Amino acid sequence: MKLLITNGYVIDPASGVNAGKDLLIENGRVRGLLSRGDSRPEDAEVFDATGLIVAPGFIDLHVHLREPGHEYKETIASGAAAAVAGGWTSLCAMPNTDPVNDNPAVTRFIIEQAEKAQLANVFPIGAVTKGSGGKELAEIGEMKNAGIVAVSDDGQPIPTAGMMRRAMEYARGFDLPVVDHCQDRSLSAGGAMHEGRWSLILGLKGMPAAAEEVDAVRDCVLAGLTGARVHLAHVSTRGTIEAVRRAKELGLRVTCEVAPHHWSLNDEAVADYDTNTKMSPPLRSAEHIGALLAGLRDGTIDAIATDHAPHHSDEKALEFDQAPFGIVGLETAVGLAFDLVQQGVIDLERLVQLCSTNPARVFNLEDRGTLKTDAWGDVTILDPNLEWTFDVSVSRSKSRNTPFDKRQFRGAAVATVVGGRIVYLHPHLRDARAKKEELRAKG
Ligand SMILES: [Zn+2]
Repeated sequence: MKLLITNGYVIDPASGVNAGKDLLIENGRVRGLLSRGDSRPEDAEVFDATGLIVAPGFIDLHVHLREPGHEYKETIASGAAAAVAGGWTSLCAMPNTDPVNDNPAVTRFIIEQAEKAQLANVFPIGAVTKGSGGKELAEIGEMKNAGIVAVSDDGQPIPTAGMMRRAMEYARGFDLPVVDHCQDRSLSAGGAMHEGRWSLILGLKGMPAAAEEVDAVRDCVLAGLTGARVHLAHVSTRGTIEAVRRAKELGLRVTCEVAPHHWSLNDEAVADYDTNTKMSPPLRSAEHIGALLAGLRDGTIDAIATDHAPHHSDEKALEFDQAPFGIVGLETAVGLAFDLVQQGVIDLERLVQLCSTNPARVFNLEDRGTLKTDAWGDVTILDPNLEWTFDVSVSRSKSRNTPFDKRQFRGAAVATVVGGRIVYLHPHLRDARAKKEELRAKG
């Protein structure tokens, strides 16, 4: 099985390639990047990428797939379908399912369901503590053998520094990063949005930036104490960015990710009490967004991750303070990342680093995040000029909770290749292909 992606412009920061090249994938792995004079196989399927960017497959470090237990919100198959439509070839699945992924049986189930779906690669994240209860460590070693790539109690922040220290020391032995949703609940309890001017105006209880920052600083200090790999999920405040920047200067093994909604919207968006603007951490004020943009620009932020969090519309239809936290994000993230390119915050190479090169490094995903020879044949093909409008009614996700319905974008992932198989084609490419086939059939 061979796939030849021709006439595209290849951006692969991991191998320093930034040039027009053809990409040959054979039996699921990259065979090589071909230059003008190189010979090409005649029996390969050809994808013409004229005018398009060819990048190593995008890797989302933070997704809630809801299966097992909440299949009415999302399944591994529906989440993977939304992922490839959004340009993501690999997903890292958070463990807050029912049952929680705190043992190898659940880990194996997730991997099997993903294999059946045959769309995106799914890498499970195991729970840090049993049932993510914060009391007793989960079966981390057994889960590592079954295939987890990190541990996290995301959604149920690890309550004490003592527990976090034990988790870090234990995870370090397995070379697994500990992913933390930084939130000191003694500061954030009962909060529905960012604590600031808008929470006062709207009469909603706020979650102060300090609730995130106290834990972010704690985790950085403990990374120094333990030498463990620590990854801060969905960072959203100035103080968190400053803590990570300082930790990196000190040479600690601290990384972090940002979710697209945190740079795209501010807390004023809550003014209509639309529960699709309710997430945790919450949308922040302009000064925090400025710090996120600076972190994206200067490398303090390692990765863009969606924090895709599907919820049924009946749940989101509750009063603002009663509704669950979170939004879907797999199909809008790349469009929102292109906003950053158009605003001059980052260039295309940095976009690829944030969505592919760095995520592969952060979770040690071997042979991914690059198009070097023998890497997995995972490819995200981008059209930086495509203008499109997101229509949630045709989303592949089972859920519809997004604040970005009908939003206009410039720039999209138009084809997604996983293990050398084209698993998604943008409708206009599908039409063009169909026309070509038709002409060929007519001879
Ligand atoms: Zn979280």
